[in-house]
Amino acid sequence: MTIRVRIAPSPTGLAHLGTIYTALFNYAFARQNQGQFILRIEDTDVKRHVPEAEQVIYDAFAWLGLDYDEGPDKSGPFQPYRQSERLKLYQDYAHQLVHQKLAYEDEGAIRFRVPAGQTGWQDLIRGEVKFANDQIKDFVVLKSDGYPTYNFAVVVDDWLMQITHVVRAEDHVSNTPRQLLIYQALQAPVPQFAHLPLLRNPDHSKISKRKNPVAIAWYRQQGYLPDALLNFLCLLGWSHPQSQEVFPLDEFVKHFSFARVSTSAPVFDLTKLDWLNGVYIRQKTDRELAQLLKPFAPPKMSETLIEQTVPLIKERINKLSDYAAMVDFLVKEPKIDQALLLKKSRQDEKTVAEQRALAVEKLAAVEDWQAEKLERVCRDLAAEKNYHAGKFFMALRIVITGKAVTPPLFASLALLGKTKTLARLQKK
Ligand code: GLU
Repeated sequence: MTIRVRIAPSPTGLAHLGTIYTALFNYAFARQNQGQFILRIEDTDVKRHVPEAEQVIYDAFAWLGLDYDEGPDKSGPFQPYRQSERLKLYQDYAHQLVHQKLAYEDEGAIRFRVPAGQTGWQDLIRGEVKFANDQIKDFVVLKSDGYPTYNFAVVVDDWLMQITHVVRAEDHVSNTPRQLLIYQALQAPVPQFAHLPLLRNPDHSKISKRKNPVAIAWYRQQGYLPDALLNFLCLLGWSHPQSQEVFPLDEFVKHFSFARVSTSAPVFDLTKLDWLNGVYIRQKTDRELAQLLKPFAPPKMSETLIEQTVPLIKERINKLSDYAAMVDFLVKEPKIDQALLLKKSRQDEKTVAEQRALAVEKLAAVEDWQAEKLERVCRDLAAEKNYHAGKFFMALRIVITGKAVTPPLFASLALLGKTKTLARLQKK
């Protein structure tokens, strides 16, 4: 038996973090077993349908490298993979059920007749789950406008697309008995089910955009790396057999098992993602990182300059979007906040003015404009005038960069160049 799994997002305008989380587990299971991973677009909710939304979904999968074997933009043996193009199938099967008296017409819609008894399954994550059928009312499978309901279309498709394992979020547990009843009515083989825990906000409520960004595009714009985001999602509800925290997707594919998925709610902690993303950033070579930083660099920053800044900021950023604020002083005249200058350098106005003048004098004489040389000159000046080095350097830092937190001071001055450094020190 070839394992076939699927992810079935509804195109509502964004690629949701929860969709990607579910997709990741499906992907790992398929790849581990040389199976197939299918993308199906569930676009039968006409009111919520956003035309560009499909592309947003494809882009998210491509960015993350979660490649699927079949899908609307890839074709495959079971096409079409877009539910809106499969309406005739749902209509035919719904009418077949009416014909078999397993469903009936009701004000233009077709309603499934729920039989007496019990419906249950052995969930690969949650174990045995059972529902009494009398808790389930007869439900609509085909609406009067000819569109199927989710519970009906999903079964017809999973059956016809030969899906062997339905791996999805736990908020679908209550839909599963309805779907099982339809499998029985259609005399279709029943796939296995695995219901993944739902991602949670830090306050344990179901993940929502009010409390956590949920659009994959947001993570991309912030400069999270796709590998870091995937690694982070692997750690939610699943644990590595050797308790490793940093590992590539291949490793997840190798070690994945449903038995290691917990049923307790994994909390999506952005602070931890930031940390992990920083780890991935530091694993890049300087060249790779420079390429990644290009779209995040301040305007007017040359490629060469970006490359030169990489060793200075590599240990200091967790997201690519942290970069611009760290280096913009190189291409933009900073505004000096006088109050900040005095407060952070813990010196009075007169001392700072004297330090600026003397620094100009000493630095103007430097010919070999290198970080070590600049540091030596400034340390000598501090010693000669009895300045507290930390306070003096803080004053220089703020006057030249506009900020109290920057990459290493003298390496920054080396990159900024002599002319600009002197001009900023002299500016009134
Ligand atoms: N379109 C459904 C959703 O996005 C699919 C659920 C399923 O996997 O069955 O929630």
